[in-house]
Amino acid sequence: MFFCPTRIVFGNNAVQRAAGFIPALGNKALIVTGKKSAQLCGALSDITNMLSSLGIAYATFAEVKENPELQCIMQGKDMLLDTASDFVIGIGGGSPIDAAKAISLAAANSLNISQLYQTELFRDAYPIIAVPTTAGTGTEATQYSVLSDPGTNKKAGFGHPKAFPTLSILDPRYTYSLPQSVTLHTALDALSHLLEGIYSNQRSQVVKPFIHKGISNIIKHLPLVLQQPDNPSSRNELMLASLYGGMVIAQGSTTLQHSIGYPLTATFGVPHGLANALVMQEIMLLYLPAVKAELEELFDAIHLSMDEFFMWLHKLPYNSTIEYDDKFIEASIPQIMNSRNMALNPVTVTEADVYRILDSIRSKK
Ligand code: NAP
Ligand code: FE
Repeated sequence: MFFCPTRIVFGNNAVQRAAGFIPALGNKALIVTGKKSAQLCGALSDITNMLSSLGIAYATFAEVKENPELQCIMQGKDMLLDTASDFVIGIGGGSPIDAAKAISLAAANSLNISQLYQTELFRDAYPIIAVPTTAGTGTEATQYSVLSDPGTNKKAGFGHPKAFPTLSILDPRYTYSLPQSVTLHTALDALSHLLEGIYSNQRSQVVKPFIHKGISNIIKHLPLVLQQPDNPSSRNELMLASLYGGMVIAQGSTTLQHSIGYPLTATFGVPHGLANALVMQEIMLLYLPAVKAELEELFDAIHLSMDEFFMWLHKLPYNSTIEYDDKFIEASIPQIMNSRNMALNPVTVTEADVYRILDSIRSKK
């Protein structure tokens, strides 16, 4: 099975090539961004110049922080309704784009803050345009939005077909300005998504070529981009890998590989992609008995052994441990076990497995 109802325009100057699809969406846009990066990378001015040239008015909501909170979605919803906007444009990393999706759904379905995860209430959406400026989440090609609730200290996603963007505009040049750490963490998020296309018990063989090509792109081009941040062909290949990762998890969703990282992000602010990377080896070994043939096929296709893959991973410049106590692990286990991704694991995962993995990545005093 394969479903991705998003028009995707990819490549340098993608905004110009996408312009013809915008007037059909309405006369006024709400642009949703973070504080600085949409401006810094040039995407915001490309979009606003294009809107002006088409005679489309816009308002800007530049309030989205990393790991967007429910309250921020409510503010964006109010702004969409107050400005009588017809569609939403999320520009940024996964945080502003996920916020744009949730704002669209909250406004179209009159949701209050406690209803943002109640997908059974989602009947309508304002059209969503996604303009990614990181190469990692793949949210430009998914039906997911991941939000954080500071009240419960919980980070969780929802998925609904209405949350697929109508149009996604991907220009790899927007990623040249990424700091090295964000380049690294986001690429590791994309790598997790691609691997989860192999792990998920809803895996789709239709996307296998995307998985193999995306993983091989990251293995080859991530180390190059860390050396040379504005290398055009490597940035291009990483953004393609991220898009492929989104198209992959849109079919089979994510697994424990993702949900185990959410408490690390919610409690310690560990960047999302880094949280995924920290557990990547342990998760692969946990799932191995159920997906041995699929992993062998992957490693054949990318001309690496599993050990060489782990060596590549451990050579990347990130700290592979975090400091926390047993209390944190015990508090996280129920949240992880109850997350919706747990239904997709290819093996039965026990509380003891989750404990062992979280224990393996904490720094021992
Ligand atoms: P992000 O949280 O959107 O942004 C991280 C940081 O990078 C921010 O400080 C941002 O600055 C900066 N930044 C973004 N683009 C930049 C650029 N081109 N140049 C310089 N700085 C830039 O990061 P992300 O990793 O892309 O998104 C993570 C979120 O997406 C998490 O909440 C994660 O759970 C979610 N996610 C969603 C899906 C999905 O399918 N929906 C899948 C995986 C992950 P500003 O704040 O100034 O913008
Ligand atoms: Fe992710």
